[in-house]
This record gives sequence, C-alpha cells and structure tokens, in this order.
Amino acid sequence: MEVLARQKHKHLEFTLVAVSELSSSSVPPSSTPVIARFSADSGVAELRFRQDSGFIDGFNVNLGTAQLFKLGPLKSLCISGSSDSNKEKSYARGVTILFKNEEESRDFHSAFEQWQNEDVTQGTHLPNGAISDVKSKFDNKIEPSSAKMYFHYYGQLLHQQNMLQDYVRTGTYYAAVIENRADFTGRVVVDVGAGSGILSLFAAQAGAKHVYAVEASEMAEYARKLIAGNPSLGQQITVIKGKVEEVELPEKADILISEPMGTLLVNERMLESYMIARDRFLVPKGKMFPSVGRIHMAPFSDEYLFVEIANKALFWQQQNYYGVDLTALHGSAFQGYFSQPVVDAFDPRLLVSSPMSHVIDFNEAKEEDLYEIDIPLKFVASVGTRVHGLACWFDVLFNGSTVQRWLTTAPGAPTTHWYQIRCVLSQPIYVMAGQEITGRLHMFAHNAQSYTIYLTLSAKMWGPGAEQGGIIQSSSCKLDLKEPYYRMSQPQPYTTAQDQQPHQLLQPQDIPIHTNDLEEPKLLQQPLENSGAQLQ
Ligand code: SAH
Repeated sequence: MEVLARQKHKHLEFTLVAVSELSSSSVPPSSTPVIARFSADSGVAELRFRQDSGFIDGFNVNLGTAQLFKLGPLKSLCISGSSDSNKEKSYARGVTILFKNEEESRDFHSAFEQWQNEDVTQGTHLPNGAISDVKSKFDNKIEPSSAKMYFHYYGQLLHQQNMLQDYVRTGTYYAAVIENRADFTGRVVVDVGAGSGILSLFAAQAGAKHVYAVEASEMAEYARKLIAGNPSLGQQITVIKGKVEEVELPEKADILISEPMGTLLVNERMLESYMIARDRFLVPKGKMFPSVGRIHMAPFSDEYLFVEIANKALFWQQQNYYGVDLTALHGSAFQGYFSQPVVDAFDPRLLVSSPMSHVIDFNEAKEEDLYEIDIPLKFVASVGTRVHGLACWFDVLFNGSTVQRWLTTAPGAPTTHWYQIRCVLSQPIYVMAGQEITGRLHMFAHNAQSYTIYLTLSAKMWGPGAEQGGIIQSSSCKLDLKEPYYRMSQPQPYTTAQDQQPHQLLQPQDIPIHTNDLEEPKLLQQPLENSGAQLQ
C-alpha cells in the first residue's frame, strides 16, 4: 500500500494488495491492486474502493459509523452499517483488507481514525442538526463526564483484577460456561463489555465458533494482549473497541455473555447496554448468559449501623469550633449521611422478615423498563424490634441447556465484591412479631449511570393506645446509589465462623454513643439477639 495523494479535506488514497467482502465471494481477491479512497465529497466522510474497472459496488463505507479491526499484522476487517434508512432491512457489511506490510497497515489505520474524526467535526457544523443521528443511545442518556470517569476506571487493570479475584463471581461464570458447553460449541458469541476478555476466553474454551469481545474502555487493548497470549483460544476471538450501542458486527450472535451487574443489580446502568446489545446482535430466541436477575429485599434491624451513621453528623453539633457555631449545618449533614446506601456484608440474622424479590427477565425486558423501577413492598415481621431500613441483594441465573446455575450475592452466602446494600432510615419504625410492614422502593435512573432511590416503610402503631386508632408510622428517605458508603473495614464480613459466635459483631462500647443525639437512648442497650430475626 502506498499513499498516493492527500489534499486537505478533499481525499486521500491508498493502494491495497486486495479487498474482499466478508462471507461473500462476489468480489474475489484479484491480482490487480485496489485503491482505497477516503473522501468527504458528499459532505460525509466515506471510504470507497476502486479497481481498474471503476468503484466496486456496495463497498461504500460511511466513516461515521464504520469500525476497523486488526485481524492480523497484514489483514484488517472494516465493518460498516447499512446506509439503508429502512431499519428493518439494515445489516452490517464486512470488508477484509490485505496490506503489503505492517507499516502500511498502521498508516491506513491512523488515516481511518483521522477521517472518522473529521466526519464528526463536520457533522457538528451541519445546519440540519444531523449530528443527533451520530449520537448513540448511550450518548443521549449519559453525561459525558460520567462516561469518561466510568470507562477510565474500567480501563485500569487493577479494577479488572479486583473482579477477576472475586472467585465466587468468576468461578460461577466459568462453571456456568464450561458445564453448558453445548450452548457454546460451534456458536457465535458476543461478550458484552468484555473487560480483560476473560469471558470471551471461557466461551472459546467451551468451543465457540467465534467470539466478538466488545469493550468500550482502553481495557480493549489489554484484552487483545491477553487473548494474543492465549493463541490456541485467541484465533476464535475478535476484540472490538467501542460501545455496544455503537459498534457494528459482521454477523448475529447465537449467545450473549456479559457481566453487567452493579450494586443493587442495576447500578452503573450497564444492564441497559446488555438489553441494547440483545436487540442489536442476538438472533431471535438466542441465549443470554445470564438471562434473569432478581433484586431481593427485606427489612433489617441494626442498632450499631444506625448509631454509627447518626454519629457521623455529630461533628456539626459543635457550637465552638475555633469560635464558630457549626450547628446550622447539622441537619444537612445528618440527611447527607442517611442518603448514602451502605455497602457491606451483614449477618442475615439482622433481617426482620423473609425477603421478597423483583425479577428482571433479560430476554424480555426493554431497555426503557430500567429507567424507572417501582417496587411495592409487603413483609411480615418475624420479631418485635426497631426496623432501621431495607436490605437488598441480587442474584442472576445462567439458564444453560445442561445445567442451571445461580450467582448469588445474598447475606450469609460466600461474599462477593458486590457485598450487600442497605438503605437506612433516619427515623426507624417499631414493629411487633407478626405485624405487616408495607412500603415502596422507587428508583429513577439518572444521567450519571446510577439511580436516585426513594424508600418508604410503614407499619401500624403498636403499644399502649394503639387499639384506639389505626395510626400508621411511616418513614421515608431519598438516597443516591452513586454515592455509597463502603463500610467493609468495620464489622467483619459475615463468615460461617460467626455462626458459632453470634455476638462477635461490633460491641456497643466500640462506638462512641452520644445519647443526647438520639430519640431513644434506651434502645441502644438492647442486646443484638433482640434486634434480629432467625430465618429458616
Ligand atoms: N466481562 C469482564 C468485565 C466486566 S466489567 C469480566 O467479567 O471480567 C464491565 C465491562 O463492561 C467494563 O470493562 C466496561 O468498560 C464495559 N462496558 C460497560 N458499558 C459498556 C458499553 N456500553 N459498551 C462496551 N463496553 C461497556
């Protein structure tokens, strides 16, 4: 390949050894070189291929939507979306390109990138606002600064390592794939948010015909390296750097594999990308690994946690902080601490009733279903106690043809890097054994890839005088799932060893208790066994 000419903003040409259409013999590689021409003649940057006989039909690549992948040192694959405006008929095309040497391949790739950027710049100047066509579903709903931080985070190996070292997580995925070889052998797989590429490698181990590993962050480069370091599996895997909302693939997938779960299942809003990938890439009735997610919820009682959070705001009760009265901000600080969902592993004996669950069927749910999640709550208390909030965890199902497997993050089960999450009420409510607790968990997705949570728990009043009226005690709070309080270093995560030693959690004397800040100081002395429930 050699650069023939470039006039700024006009065109740029390369001579290629050969091009051929993927999965078609319509244009066989020939001995005549092919000229690749980048141009913006029609106002949109495009790439066309020309042979002696003129432009090759159907090889028009719109650089606004095209992707270029390296298949080997001298071979690349160019995928472009259809220009057909009828979405029903839209499909992606693939053109394989053969270069003379590695340097030429590199130059072509960098030219491709430059001309793509050129297209975007031109697009922003289009008077008819055509740029909105270029914006993907992801860009339309997510704040760019949030996306930037998000993909920066996942672009770092240390965070991928953290997930890989969650052996409950990775081991369950491995088992689910390997035990269900039949679902992978000879199949086309898309790994949605491939990260290090680990799930793609598992799918290749299970005999996948081809795996497209789609990853938007810089981790895509590391995934390429990892896959190249496993050549016997790597031949079946193509890493595609980009968002699943934006990239084009040359063929449909028989099965999707992904790990899109955040805390409370839905944090990070990646489940929506999983739904979009399903709609874009999966054949009808194709399999999804995982295929179902469930959010489990139960009220809990935890005096220690409540006191710990309430006490955080005590700082703002000082009236003489270097001569300054801080109390004006106490209320705001108090509210601020209670708006943080608490992430840690807790003893399931703190639960006050059996849990209930909210099911999300990944095969059926629409992406938009996840914008607002509204769950009515109803429990029956199994002990008399103070309820301090709602505890939540999730599980997902790998519904393999051979073996069904659940990955669970439940309290009492082996701890995962998701731990569990608790929404703590600033006003606890009192319940008797057998009493009904009702409420609502209402979550709204926001553009920083997370949710605002509104929680209400209610119970009938009890105690002296309650028979006279059906007075309801109700307590509500608003939380931001984006700002959790990671509490792992304080009470030890639940382990089976604690089964034998039920009172080894943080002792009351370990927590500085300022009783004048609390409405019910007496209750602080309650032993733990009175504040939890035994669940079968
Ligand atoms: N599959 C890997 C990584 C899971 S973490 C594993 O199981 O170890 C989720 C990954 O998805 C991150 O690397 C993140 O960058 C990527 N991701 C999130 N949203 C994406 C999107 N819309 N398109 C492509 N990749 C995405």
